Amino acid sequence: MTTTTTTAPAPDAAERATFESIDPATGDVVGVHPVHDETDVRAAVARARASADWWAGLGFDGRREVLTQWRGVITRRLAQLCDVVHQETGKPHGDAQLECALAIDHLAWAGSHAEKVLGRRRVSPGLLLANQAASVEYLPLGVVGVIGPWNYPVFTPMGSIAYALAAGNTVVFKPSELTPGVGTWLADSLREVVPDHDLLQVVTGYGETGAALCRAGVDKLAFTGSTATGKRVMAACAETLTPVVIEAGGKDALLVDEDADLDAAAEAAAWGAFANAGQTCAGVERVYVHERVHDRFVELLAERARGVHAGTDVEAKIGPMTMPGQLDVVRRHVDDALARGGRAVVGGAEAVGDRFVQPTVLVDVPEDSEAVTEETFGPTVTVRKVRDMDEAVELTNAGKYGLGSAIFTAKRGDDLARRLRTGMTSINSVISFAGVPTLPFGGVGDSGFGRIHGPDGLREFTYAKAVTRTRFKAPLNLTTFERTPEQDTMVATLLLALHGRATQLPKLPRRPVETIRGLGGRRRG
Ligand code: NAD
Repeated sequence: MTTTTTTAPAPDAAERATFESIDPATGDVVGVHPVHDETDVRAAVARARASADWWAGLGFDGRREVLTQWRGVITRRLAQLCDVVHQETGKPHGDAQLECALAIDHLAWAGSHAEKVLGRRRVSPGLLLANQAASVEYLPLGVVGVIGPWNYPVFTPMGSIAYALAAGNTVVFKPSELTPGVGTWLADSLREVVPDHDLLQVVTGYGETGAALCRAGVDKLAFTGSTATGKRVMAACAETLTPVVIEAGGKDALLVDEDADLDAAAEAAAWGAFANAGQTCAGVERVYVHERVHDRFVELLAERARGVHAGTDVEAKIGPMTMPGQLDVVRRHVDDALARGGRAVVGGAEAVGDRFVQPTVLVDVPEDSEAVTEETFGPTVTVRKVRDMDEAVELTNAGKYGLGSAIFTAKRGDDLARRLRTGMTSINSVISFAGVPTLPFGGVGDSGFGRIHGPDGLREFTYAKAVTRTRFKAPLNLTTFERTPEQDTMVATLLLALHGRATQLPKLPRRPVETIRGLGGRRRG
């Protein structure tokens, strides 16, 4: 596939600034991409707008058909897409395939459920306006801008792209500067299905290209990335009152109760913490374990951590750190944790190399150290002994992030899940919520706001359109200057019957008559 059809056309290849996409495992250059500037981005948005009416006008059935064909193309070329993901992120092919599989499943769900979730439906008009027929539907916004990260360069942006398209919008996508080839591949594959309309275009470049997209007049901006950049995106979008979805960082906790299946908990903690080299927004970064099972759990987790290593050999279950700069963050967190009394049961300072970080399990780390409070985004995890699950909930909720969480317990899952201030919780598994297309995905606090996936994710890329239609002349017309005092009395009577019954009034303590008189006297005076 070529990359020229979906990216903004280079006016003069000689003048166009470019940047290289690098294989983080080897340092090899795997692609060269244009740095799109403000003019390019605005042109892409203008093309997207020109296609928006056609796409919205296709209706749910037409769009479902296109998205089904696109899903087929991606699925048949899965190995090719996984290759690009592997080259640009360094993650093993199996992991690349897993994220693509989940993205394809979401695309299928979004396409086939858009009508049910967004289509026009009648709603009750209520008694006061009983002569009206009322309906609501969710209409496309127009053009949606999507800015994505590098850690799951297919799954993460597709959580916005697939749902925005299914809802009837066209999309301009700015992938991470570390994974421009993946973004371009996705846009090119849709272009094959619909060559004559700009449904999904890619603009490539650094933060400036993303900032230009925020200011290019899109109707909504869906951002996934770090909290710090999310704040900049929101500030830029505020200039034009462009609404935003912010899917930002996390510091997810896993809670282990005294009655938990410890083997399963340790297995899940290891996978949640080390998979994708820990570069998962909803990965496990902290574990709080009931004191009665803490020591055994640490043994089991350490065993598993020792069985996993980062590298490029066929045995390696995890790859390199995709973003070189993140190595400094991981090193700082580990060093700080150790300097402040923490202990590395597995890994430690020497586990942080030049490109790879080996699994690291830290215990006795103070709760106010960076390894516990900040997103580490590496294959490291802290484990802390807690008195009971109440303390575990308290410590989890003390963090500023609130993306996901996990609980291992035999009996108390639902109760504990409700008490955790996170957008998502999985009980007796990790990160399962991300793969269930019917569930909304998103966080609270510094993890952002708004939701992708599921019905909420579809509605996120629409506006609610409310319509009333007069069915017959109302016996009691409220919206006329002809309204009579008798009709006002009827309204008051009706209101009393509907909302004013004594049982609905809060019971107030009786006050002595003098107090009431006294109050009245003061008011008059
Ligand atoms: P990042 O914030 O550095 O970059 C994200 C994107 O924003 C990139 O495309 C980047 O070019 C662009 N960008 C940078 N500056 C910009 C600006 N001023 N205006 C507009 N766009 C700008 O994040 P990253 O390092 O690519 O990704 C890792 C982060 O993403 C982690 O914090 C991780 O937790 C988070 N993440 C969150 C989710 C989620 O769903 N909540 C999913 C995946 C990753």
